[in-house]
Amino acid sequence: MQNLVAVVVNLPKQSEKQILYYKFPEKMVDILKIGCRVLVPVGNALREGYVVDFPETSEIKKLKEIAQILEDKPLIPEELMKLALWISKSYLSPIHKVIEQIIPPAMRIEPDRWVRLLENNELSISLSVLDVRVANILSSLENGPVKLNSLLRKYGGDINSSLQDLKQRGLIEIFLDFKTKETNSSVTIIEKIVKKEEYDNVLKELKRAPIQLKILNILDTVGQIEQQKLLKEYSLNLSSINALEKKGYIRKHKLKKERTPELNEEFLNHKKLTLNDSQQNAVSLITKAINENQLETFLLHGVTGSGKTEVYLRSIINAVNQGKGALLLVPEISLTHQTIGRFKGVLGQQVVVLHSGLSEGERLDAWNALRSGNAKVAIGVRSAVFAPVQNLGIIIIDEEHESTYKQTEPDPRYHTRDVAIERIRNLNGVLILGSATPSIETYYNAKQNNYTLIELAQRVKANPLPKVEVVDLKNELESGNKSIFSRVLHQSISDTLAKGEQVILFMNRRGYSTFVLCRECGESLMCKNCSISLTYHFVNSEMRCHYCNYRASVPTKCPHCGSKYIRYFGSGTQQVEVELIKAFPGIKVTRMDVDTTTRKNSHQELLAEFSKGETQVLLGTQMIAKGLDFPNVTLVGVIAADTSLNLPDFRAGEKTFQLITQVAGRTGRGDKIGKVIVQTYNPEHYAIIHAKNHDYKSFYEKEIEQRQIIGYPPFNSLVRIIINGHEEDIVMNLAEKIGLDLKNISKDKIEIFGPAPAPLAKIQNRFRWQIILKANSLDFLRKVAWHEYKKYVNLKEYNQLRIIIDIEPQSIL
Ligand code: ADP
Ligand code: ZN
Ligand code: ZN
Repeated sequence: MQNLVAVVVNLPKQSEKQILYYKFPEKMVDILKIGCRVLVPVGNALREGYVVDFPETSEIKKLKEIAQILEDKPLIPEELMKLALWISKSYLSPIHKVIEQIIPPAMRIEPDRWVRLLENNELSISLSVLDVRVANILSSLENGPVKLNSLLRKYGGDINSSLQDLKQRGLIEIFLDFKTKETNSSVTIIEKIVKKEEYDNVLKELKRAPIQLKILNILDTVGQIEQQKLLKEYSLNLSSINALEKKGYIRKHKLKKERTPELNEEFLNHKKLTLNDSQQNAVSLITKAINENQLETFLLHGVTGSGKTEVYLRSIINAVNQGKGALLLVPEISLTHQTIGRFKGVLGQQVVVLHSGLSEGERLDAWNALRSGNAKVAIGVRSAVFAPVQNLGIIIIDEEHESTYKQTEPDPRYHTRDVAIERIRNLNGVLILGSATPSIETYYNAKQNNYTLIELAQRVKANPLPKVEVVDLKNELESGNKSIFSRVLHQSISDTLAKGEQVILFMNRRGYSTFVLCRECGESLMCKNCSISLTYHFVNSEMRCHYCNYRASVPTKCPHCGSKYIRYFGSGTQQVEVELIKAFPGIKVTRMDVDTTTRKNSHQELLAEFSKGETQVLLGTQMIAKGLDFPNVTLVGVIAADTSLNLPDFRAGEKTFQLITQVAGRTGRGDKIGKVIVQTYNPEHYAIIHAKNHDYKSFYEKEIEQRQIIGYPPFNSLVRIIINGHEEDIVMNLAEKIGLDLKNISKDKIEIFGPAPAPLAKIQNRFRWQIILKANSLDFLRKVAWHEYKKYVNLKEYNQLRIIIDIEPQSIL
């Protein structure tokens, strides 16, 4: 019987064959395992691949053989490889794209062309008789192979003919090699090791090598030095250093560069807390499941300020004490400094943090620390659900209702919650979903007894949940107040500041409604490429599109009617800041939005400034809605609740309820009582009324009733097919064909919405049409969507289009 292996390979063309079969020689039998990275022949090139399976038989008779195993132990743990296959199937995504999510980019390997001198070369030819280009090339190769690209960069493209010439004469060889990407993860240090008593001899010996002598002299004065520094500052070359090393006068060693992203000390927190009864009860239930290796999902429904973080921390400590690893997922790292500070304060080096702001090198370090078991706990955003934590026993998803847990672009379009459920099921571990406002789906599952519900109904501190006051903006306008602050909000800010307390003001979405509008014809200025309004930015007085980043200055005349009356309307965070300073002269404001937080660490710095009381108001977008814990904040203002209420999405009510509850939770966390003011044009909406009363259960009952009537999730599943392309005719044409196909095959089994232009009908010059499918069986939806995809994806007339299948979409914009 043959040794067969199935390997995932990233093939250049969109291909169904993501998994190829190979033979392997007997000598690999003991080392080749699932998750191993290998090189395999594809066509006449070698490619990187990952072992997924050892099949019994293959239909193909003439199989090629695996070329090489790249590492001596599997790069991807078998457990994660299994998960990758599941994701690929569940979300209809090529498996190599799933693997790209798992492996840190710095670890990926790419073939490079290298040049090296051949052994029996004729270098005795005096260099002076050679043409200068050839001489350059040869001297560059003296110390070993060099990348072809770096030769070309150094000497220019005209060395190509010289290279060919040298190759033909058999002096050099050009070859392909694989190397992991360079990451600067370590530095080379040079140190002198000549003994004192040998020194005179050494000096004599090096008389003819003045440069080597110079290096020893430098080392005499500076002690150790980084090789890079030595080369640069003293304009030396590597060969002299290497010669000294060979002679045993110096030693090189590698030092790991410290790249751990810094955590502001302000957030480190190692205080000792005694759990209250509800927390203790939660930790006991969770720990019992962990200790008994019992597969279980908990919904930790705790009001804001009920101390969920402490429950997570204790549960994780207990898991670690049992020799298990743990994973804590958070929606956005920028809000998590306090949580990270708490975990690092207690667990120290056992914790690593994974997020998109890390450099490739930092990410690699974190990955290696987990893979080797040096770190046992990972905290991270969505993609950290793939962290290679060893002996993983517990996954916690904080703020499980957040939509950032769904990846929408690119493939795989997975939901972190579902991936976590699958991963922990294979490991027989414990999953905790934590939230003050659980998603409707999750709460439904808890009610159906699929999850164990644990409630933390009270805040830790005795103070009650803050009072929420709803202000009807229609009345404000009627009574002549055109400011973005209602009279109540204005007065409350005033009172709060007078008491020396702090305010958080929340504006949904950066510059969401700061559109530019003509007062005569009423047309607003739209992006040329996307069908959404341009946003006015005060900083450079320019308009900007938040989908494609198109920028333009504000025209002096309306492009529609020629009128000169162009005005900016609505309020973005920048405008609120301007008005705030106007209304409260001398006030100090920290503004947090995408514009002020582009720099690395800027989130932390801004929050630290507010936390230390250097500013009085924290003003921001949804990035400040959750997680923050500042005891001196006693007032939260929501400038306009309507932006989320009016989104064309069946989750708009749920999102609004969550948003108000979350921002309300930012106040009254210290010893003082907090207050919340919500401004809206829709004060009677049930989402707003129940949020005002802190009444999750009533909101849930109303919402679930409506979902059942209309048949939305959790009662049915959705799949969304998006077709986009530069020419709307073709996009529409394919959308209609697919729509028709679907109606013909399965109209009695699925409900079909569309085809129609998506609410965002054009993004980056690509027109977007969508079809939404609804049915009881997700499997069936997957099957028909995949069938349509395969039918059209490779047709020539549609090769400019993209067909995207989004399984259980979170947003349908
Ligand atoms: P949640 O995540 O549920 O909104 P947090 O975990 O942020 O709540 O906790 C709210 C506050 O209560 C934090 O300042 C936290 O340090 C504090 N806290 C939590 N548990 C305790 C406890 N058992 N004793 C004293 N303070 C606690
Ligand atoms: Zn006009
Ligand atoms: Zn645009």
